[in-house]
Amino acid sequence: MRRLGLFEANVPRYTSYPPANHFAGDVTPEVHRAWLASIAPGSKVSLYIHVPFCRRLCWFCACRTQGMQSEEPVVAYTNSVIQELRTLRGILPQGVEIEKLHWGGGTPTLLTAPEITRLAAAIRDAIPLSTTAEFSVEVDPNEIDESRLDALAAAGMARASIGVQDFDPEIQKIIGREQSFEVTRAAIEGLRARGVTSLNTDLLYGLPRQTQERITASMQMLLSLNPDRVALYGYAHVPWMAKRQALIPTEDLPAPEARLNLFETASEVMKWDGYDSIGIDHFARPGDSLAIAAREGRLRRNFQGYTDDTCDVLIGVGASSISKFPQGFVQNAAATAAYQKAVRAGELATGRGHVLTPDDALRSYVIERLMCDFAVSLSDDGPFPREAMEPLLHDIAADFDGHVILNDNGLQIRQASRPLTRLMARSVDAYTSAQAKNHSSAI
Ligand code: SF4
Repeated sequence: MRRLGLFEANVPRYTSYPPANHFAGDVTPEVHRAWLASIAPGSKVSLYIHVPFCRRLCWFCACRTQGMQSEEPVVAYTNSVIQELRTLRGILPQGVEIEKLHWGGGTPTLLTAPEITRLAAAIRDAIPLSTTAEFSVEVDPNEIDESRLDALAAAGMARASIGVQDFDPEIQKIIGREQSFEVTRAAIEGLRARGVTSLNTDLLYGLPRQTQERITASMQMLLSLNPDRVALYGYAHVPWMAKRQALIPTEDLPAPEARLNLFETASEVMKWDGYDSIGIDHFARPGDSLAIAAREGRLRRNFQGYTDDTCDVLIGVGASSISKFPQGFVQNAAATAAYQKAVRAGELATGRGHVLTPDDALRSYVIERLMCDFAVSLSDDGPFPREAMEPLLHDIAADFDGHVILNDNGLQIRQASRPLTRLMARSVDAYTSAQAKNHSSAI
């Protein structure tokens, strides 16, 4: 695997194809409007609300987010989000309903309780929620209290995500995010007491001064809280893109081969505790909907990672939010000021995007199946003809000789070669190789 570049390669996470850094100015507000208007009347969509503010800016975090000193900018931003929702209501066809609603950031839980209630009401007013809709929120344990938990519960929150990173106090200090086990546990207990039935958590491997013993201890502490899902992400040290990361000492980062060992150690702890391994970096209790979707071949990839969301359309609301349509991707203006200026004028805040070509759609499908199933089927009931898929699969088999099985049924990655999955996906990617350095390590 070293020969194939596993430990040196910098590879996208393929939450979209093409990756968002290849979006350009070829999607105009008129195209954006036309794609929204072409959603089938009565269909169900996913809605993502982005809150790009944090009270603290953690050094390890590469999210596009801004610090806040007072509530005013957040209230002004919420007003803009509500205005964008009204603009969407004027464009969307009759009967469109929300099936999945997700609030992310940044820190959506820094909205005050009345603001949470106001935003939730505005969403329902703009686009009704279906009777089976699922509402999930990214919750910062340092930025939540009883009143905000009550407001989120009253708005219908059923699923929550909590970032942990690592419980080791020394590592937390080095990465600029201090969050005690007790604070995390209190947030989880508060969520569960209000009927949140599904809890996602994140842990990072590859952090400075992380050792096998330390990651094992952190994972055991996390599992004592009994999360339904765990995402085990590799820390991506890209200070040339995320300036705050320059505060993290490079010499304390584990070497690439040590990263792989950290991942495998943490994975073993979870599997030993009964979690199913999902895709390249997620784990779930066998009864969780993500684990069921994985077993049934229904796993998908979206901007939050792995999902069982089957909606064809994802509408992103807020600065820098990305929408996905069958025709392509649109990203709202990333700068909060530019976003607010557009929506206050009653316009869409279209920033950039990508129109999918037939070749993109084919490669996107192959990459998504590799990332979700470690396999690509050549069955006749798939969305693309066998003749179109075969050349791509043959190229993977040639580049990764001995690591895959290719036959008439399709391509399958050997169990021991699964760490190469992102590299295989990149070999299918017609856009990325020249810009590989802008992405994170393959492991
Ligand atoms: S980790 Fe969360 S709270 Fe910290 S900067 Fe990133 S988005 Fe904000």
